[in-house]
Amino acid sequence: MTAALRDPAEVQPVLDGPVVDARGLHRFFRRGGEEVAALRDVSIVLRPGEIVAVVGPSGSGKSTLLNLLAGLDDPDGGSVRVAGRLLSHRSANGQARLRAELIGVLTQTSGLVEHLNVLDNLRLAASFRRESPPLSELRSLLDDVDLAGRAHARPSTLSGGETARANLATALVSGPRLLLADEPTAEVSTAEEALLLSLIRKLQPIDGATLLVTHSPRVAAAADRVVHLVDGRAS
Ligand code: ADP
Ligand code: MG
Repeated sequence: MTAALRDPAEVQPVLDGPVVDARGLHRFFRRGGEEVAALRDVSIVLRPGEIVAVVGPSGSGKSTLLNLLAGLDDPDGGSVRVAGRLLSHRSANGQARLRAELIGVLTQTSGLVEHLNVLDNLRLAASFRRESPPLSELRSLLDDVDLAGRAHARPSTLSGGETARANLATALVSGPRLLLADEPTAEVSTAEEALLLSLIRKLQPIDGATLLVTHSPRVAAAADRVVHLVDGRAS
């Protein structure tokens, strides 16, 4: 079949579609006798290449939103699709499989295993990939995040900025379409913060997107778009 005869939807179904398509998300929690609406009718679409910041006061629903987009929690209403695949309302196993395949999660606390050095942490994170990457690829990723000289260092000996970059490398080693970050720069200097942002911009896959929760006006300004959450509503 020639290219001209191919259905365009068949040629680039994933690359052209949104990375995240979350519609009408509601999430309620019970606290004592009281019901808390953590998210009320939040919809969010992330296009390939986008870096979007989520800002809002404490308790406004930011972490709840990230958990739903990671498939770590299920919405009480609405749905989450990542790269066209339904992530919400599946078994925990199904969600874990999709997460391993499609999503990288970056938190403000270190996700590194303390008894493994930086390179072995990367190797461990890569082992969840369908095909393990060659060592040269892992070393090249460490080089990209400026940690080539720290490959054999234990996580506890890393500075705040080095820890953030090592976390970024482990989140990206599986080649995720979606990177989710909850205040990734909360513990680092302004210079390290700018470096981390530029690394995300450079290293996220061409068909990938990033959603990052932040309190930093500099991070929000560097993002392509800002979503404001107040009392569980987005604007
Ligand atoms: P943020 O990350 O913006 O600070 P969260 O998403 O953590 O906000 O929380 C939003 C609201 O939902 C808050 O009122 C919080 O207390 C409540 N909440 C979040 N998770 C739970 C939970 N597991 N149980 C009860 N209430 C929760
Ligand atoms: Mg939070």
